[in-house]
Amino acid sequence: MMPKDMAALINALPLAVMVVGDDDRVRAVNAPLEAMLGQNLLGKHHITALRQPAILDAIMLAREGAMPVTAQYMGREGDRDTTYRVVVAPADGNIVISFEDRTATEYAGQMRRDFVANVSHELRTPLTALLGFIETLGGAARNDDAARDRFLAIMTHEANRMTRLVDDLLSLSRVEDDERVRPRGQVDIGELLESVIKGLEPQAASADMTVTLEQPDQNVMVPGDHGQLVQVFTNLVENAIKYGASGGNVVVSLSPQAMHQRLRGEGVEIVVADQGEGIPAHHIPRLTERFYRVDSHRSRAIGGTGLGLAIVKHIVNRHRGRFSVESKQGQGTRVHVLLPTEPGL
Ligand code: ADP
Repeated sequence: MMPKDMAALINALPLAVMVVGDDDRVRAVNAPLEAMLGQNLLGKHHITALRQPAILDAIMLAREGAMPVTAQYMGREGDRDTTYRVVVAPADGNIVISFEDRTATEYAGQMRRDFVANVSHELRTPLTALLGFIETLGGAARNDDAARDRFLAIMTHEANRMTRLVDDLLSLSRVEDDERVRPRGQVDIGELLESVIKGLEPQAASADMTVTLEQPDQNVMVPGDHGQLVQVFTNLVENAIKYGASGGNVVVSLSPQAMHQRLRGEGVEIVVADQGEGIPAHHIPRLTERFYRVDSHRSRAIGGTGLGLAIVKHIVNRHRGRFSVESKQGQGTRVHVLLPTEPGL
């Protein structure tokens, strides 16, 4: 086959493909391959074009064994690392090399592995503590009533921590599952905020804080899932209580329905503002990542799982809303949630 015909043939394929002749020179490439490795490869020795030893070995093996050989090609495009699965197949004296982009799959695999490692780490800490106390209670502290009471209290605390983590994990996976399903209900958002704040009053009181609600006179209805919106604002107000300044005030404000550019339509904005120490700017873009915490020690000490804002983000996305955080160090944090009031397209 003439190189021209080969080029026409491989140009019809979605994968990046290169054909190397029996003289080891590049005989044909298609457009996806040029996008990947650059222009002007025709006629060059394949070593010049493909510098990675794994591919060069695969070419040799494919020639010797007259069989297709697979290999991995690691590249870099712009500022991201890429991974390709390469099949090197002998074809009538030529070698056909095709590159399948596996970057997204590799990335998803990496995310999954990181997630499992994080969950295991989060569970291991309370488990280790529990096992330690069980051992002490069965041995050294067996007949020490005071120690037993103290240890049981700590054990309850650790077990509660694990329960919260498992609850948040289940919640996150449920929320991710139905992120593409439009919520069906209609929610009176002012009433919902009132009941969330009421439910958190004991927590606020024990932190010596007050939570106040500012809302318009008219009721505002939002298309949404009542349970999930309760979860969003519970998480946000709880964070404001946890990370706000003791003795300070948390203000939740609901704006009247209005046109919002970011929603390209009508919506309402809810802001949860605290007077805590705030969040350094470089942490803000990462707060909604699972297990991301500004100060892990502090978060764990006050019972945080590091999953709250990840859950919030998914629920707000499901409602086609917008979530953002604004914070000045030393002056507190303002968390904004924009929710569309129109059912949308
Ligand atoms: P956590 O369970 O640790 O509270 P979240 O996902 O709810 O997890 O929040 C992630 C991190 O964001 C927290 O660990 C904390 O460092 C930071 N954060 C959240 N809300 C606030 C706030 N209102 N003020 C200061 N920091 C906050």
